[in-house]
Amino acid sequence: MDHFLYRDGVLHAEDVPLPEIAAQVGTPFYCYSVATLTRHYRLFDEALAGTDHLICYAMKANSNLAVVKLMGDLGAGVDVVSGGEYLKARAAGIPGEWIVFSGVGKTRDEMRLALAGGIRQFNVESEPEMAALNEVALAMGVVAPITVRVNPDVDAQTHEKIATGKSENKFGIPIAKARAVYAHAATLPGLRVVGIDVHIGSQLTSLEPFEAAYTKVADLTRALRADGHRIDRLDLGGGLGIPYERSNAAPPLPLEYGQMIRRVLGDLGCEIEIEPGRLIAGNAGILVSRVIYLKEGEGRNFLILDAAMNDLVRPAMYAAHHDIVPLIEPAPGVEQAPFDVVGPVCESGDTFAKSRMLPPLAEGDLVAFRSAGAYGAVMASEYNTRPLVPEVLVKGDHVAVIRARPSFDEMINRDTIPLWL
Ligand SMILES: *Cc1c(COP(=O)(O)O)cnc(C)c1O
Repeated sequence: MDHFLYRDGVLHAEDVPLPEIAAQVGTPFYCYSVATLTRHYRLFDEALAGTDHLICYAMKANSNLAVVKLMGDLGAGVDVVSGGEYLKARAAGIPGEWIVFSGVGKTRDEMRLALAGGIRQFNVESEPEMAALNEVALAMGVVAPITVRVNPDVDAQTHEKIATGKSENKFGIPIAKARAVYAHAATLPGLRVVGIDVHIGSQLTSLEPFEAAYTKVADLTRALRADGHRIDRLDLGGGLGIPYERSNAAPPLPLEYGQMIRRVLGDLGCEIEIEPGRLIAGNAGILVSRVIYLKEGEGRNFLILDAAMNDLVRPAMYAAHHDIVPLIEPAPGVEQAPFDVVGPVCESGDTFAKSRMLPPLAEGDLVAFRSAGAYGAVMASEYNTRPLVPEVLVKGDHVAVIRARPSFDEMINRDTIPLWL
């Protein structure tokens, strides 16, 4: 459920007609709903009610300062995957003790940054990383709290670029080696083991792979405790999928996910951490774009928009589907026709949809890509020297630009021509 609905024939973000925002801000732009973001956070919080838990919002899904601050205000911690995200989380007011640090390639500089500023835990992904973190912590005279991310060799049944829990993926240490790795960690005085971490992928549409992975984590918890380790915390990662196509069967709900977590892990007495990103932000955002041209091709018609792959890369990168709807509600029963929906970028990959059935549209009309709040703006670039797409936040009838579109002067002045050229 989201808060982008037609009212009196016009698509609204909460109480605000989206064409009004388009007139103010220009197109393309992203628009997020506070009510939807809040609702999605609460669904997870309620799903784990009665269990000691922390929801660590995976801010790589949408790292706008305002969105991260909202999550913090709701009571969330944050999962970060870079020093930049760590600093941004802190700037959004998230205390270090609520930040978990994931990622296979944390540098020593990033480790120092987080240890100096405060950190809940590092999710360590390899033995070389463990050695480096131990060194850095000892040099700073502190002890780094860690979990080890295990790779359970489970097929997440999702797009290959966002599956992370198979043995051929670069993530985590093979679960079969976990006992040896924990034994080694226990000998390193700069580290303190606090738990286990697992994250098997993104946009999962079934609970089965999660359950397979969490069952292995439960077994590992018992084995590690028998080996004398303190396992107080289980970080179960993110990955619960969202319905990108309204017509498809809906993925499991956070409530069902929470019930499964309790059933599989409830008797271990561990604090549960989860790291949802997409489910919180995905359907809480849309990308609004204007039709530049309708172009008749041979045997197909192109709808050319002012948004492009640099603004929303998911279709080009993951062959992802986004529902596309006009901002002015089509009359009921109006005849639809197939369009290839494309952007202006000079690549054939700049195609949002092929043969998409759409109601009649004309030059200047506005459309919205639904489910664009996660892995949208954060993956945008200035390819083709197109300005980074702006972001707008709506709460009731409040509207704010939470990232402005850069001017062409700003963009041009970021480059320098050397004096010797
Ligand atoms: C990407 C990622 C997440 C979030 O995944 P979603 O599918 O957006 O919920 C959580 N944890 C880690 C370690 C990640 O890399």
